[in-house]
Amino acid sequence: MIERLKRDFHNKCYICEMKGLQDPNVEHLLPHKNGKYPDRKFDWENLFWSCGHCNGIKNNRKYDEGIIDCCRQDPEKYLRFGVQKNDVTVEGRDPGDEMQKRTALLIEETFSLKNTGMRTYSSDKRLKLLQKEMNVLYRQLERIHNAPDSKVCMRTIRSLLRRESAFAAFKRCYVREHAAEYPELQPYVKTVDSISVSNK
Ligand SMILES: [Zn+2]
Repeated sequence: MIERLKRDFHNKCYICEMKGLQDPNVEHLLPHKNGKYPDRKFDWENLFWSCGHCNGIKNNRKYDEGIIDCCRQDPEKYLRFGVQKNDVTVEGRDPGDEMQKRTALLIEETFSLKNTGMRTYSSDKRLKLLQKEMNVLYRQLERIHNAPDSKVCMRTIRSLLRRESAFAAFKRCYVREHAAEYPELQPYVKTVDSISVSNK
């Protein structure tokens, strides 16, 4: 089961999107609350692959009512992902939607929560990796801008924009929000209405 989850999630935390987890956790989308909801504990549809950092942050009453199920719905359709110099902003596209609001807050917290020493370290680490990945993308976008016919560059960008890649939601959102500058890349960053459960 663990190997299958790891494979299905491309060894990427479904919350912060960091890859190659060293401390993977089997996360419950809806909490089982120490056996209060036993059916949630082993329900395949409720099991997700996450890092310990995100699992710990999500284990808070404010997230009990659940977050967007990324195996059924496309979070990119409902959330806007942004990176500034030292900050991550995630917001729901519909400000009145509580599920979007909770999901956005959780993702933001995984890059910024610093209420313990360990969390400060882990949040910072994720923010740095995210910025590094964004810089790789920015460099390639600049390159393709100057050499639109470069096949190598196009291949690199397509690979950076794959959903399986690290921090894909942030990279894809950036390209979508700069559609006027990168019209040729829009087919690679489309959002979808629903995700087939069999993907998992
Ligand atoms: Zn994580």
